[in-house]
Amino acid sequence: VGLVSLASLCRPDDEVRVLDEKASPFPEPLEADLVGISFKTMYADHAYALADRLRAGGVRVALGGLHASLCPAEAGAHADIVVAGEGEAVWPQVLADLDRGAARPLYRAPAPPAPIDGLPRQRVELMAHERYLLHSVQTARGCSLDCEFCPTRAMFGAGFRLRRVDAVAAEVRELLRLQRKHVLFTDDVFGAGNPGFIAELTSALKPLGVSYTVICDLKMLTPPIVGQLAASGCRFMTINMPGTCLPEELAAVRQIQAAGIRVWGYFMFGFEFHKPDVFERVVHFVREGDIQQVSLTLLAPYPGTPMGERLRKEGRILSSDYRRYDQSHVVFRPAGMTPEQLEEGFGLVVREIGDRASIQRVMDHLDKRG
Ligand code: SF4
Repeated sequence: VGLVSLASLCRPDDEVRVLDEKASPFPEPLEADLVGISFKTMYADHAYALADRLRAGGVRVALGGLHASLCPAEAGAHADIVVAGEGEAVWPQVLADLDRGAARPLYRAPAPPAPIDGLPRQRVELMAHERYLLHSVQTARGCSLDCEFCPTRAMFGAGFRLRRVDAVAAEVRELLRLQRKHVLFTDDVFGAGNPGFIAELTSALKPLGVSYTVICDLKMLTPPIVGQLAASGCRFMTINMPGTCLPEELAAVRQIQAAGIRVWGYFMFGFEFHKPDVFERVVHFVREGDIQQVSLTLLAPYPGTPMGERLRKEGRILSSDYRRYDQSHVVFRPAGMTPEQLEEGFGLVVREIGDRASIQRVMDHLDKRG
């Protein structure tokens, strides 16, 4: 969605292609005036190598996205331009400066971040939709919290910003016209957890007959919101679970399931408060709650995040190999157990409930339910 959003800000005369290496191989050699590359930490080495090759062939390269925003100086060694933070606010300036031969090496998104209710229509037709299982749509950006490990604030600034309901609904309608399939709302917290916005958006989604997944925080889930989501086509609710497995969390899971929505539990291991008993507790919680879909990850203290910097100062970073920052390797020394206990405990969870982490299960459920 980030690349499509930037493509939407290019000028009418710019010829733009959106390429996603997760969907198709990068077509080298590539003739282009400018290649913008967005990447996460685990792909940094790959992105830098690609950028180096492109630049050696005379193509100018702009690096942005999560990792370049967290480590702009490092990214600058492989780029003509680094965009740190949200790209939309500076992208038109980058293009104008390039045209007049005066591009700067670093563009930082302004703080506080610009509103996103005025973004132009997203050029969703630029994506190779046949290569994806789901459509991705964003309704909000940012978060009002500031979890120490999370890169959201570094990327999107503090607080929430919402898109216009009519723009989101029009985008969903257009995506369904291009290809009828499930929609994933990619917001860290769907509709920023804003009850008024969610009521309005779910009303706009209902007549579209869309089937969709949202990411939610348990605290935002009042009975009316769960009801509105269920009635407008929500089939999966991804919920970040801290591994506390409290009775009230189990009650919330059951409330969502009773409304006909599948809970997709997102469990991360390695928090400072996690002790070796967290693994068995989560396995028991998933089974007791009949949670059919899970994501199982290890905490990754990304360089440039508050937690990454703190652990580095404390000498607790065990690996600086970016390829291991894929949330399935232990890359730091946890506080409540040894790295070996974290690795073994994670292995146990994967063995016990890892079959529920298959995306095929999502597709099978959607095939049955629609
Ligand atoms: S982890 Fe989730 S709740 Fe915490 S700051 Fe990031 S997006 Fe917000």
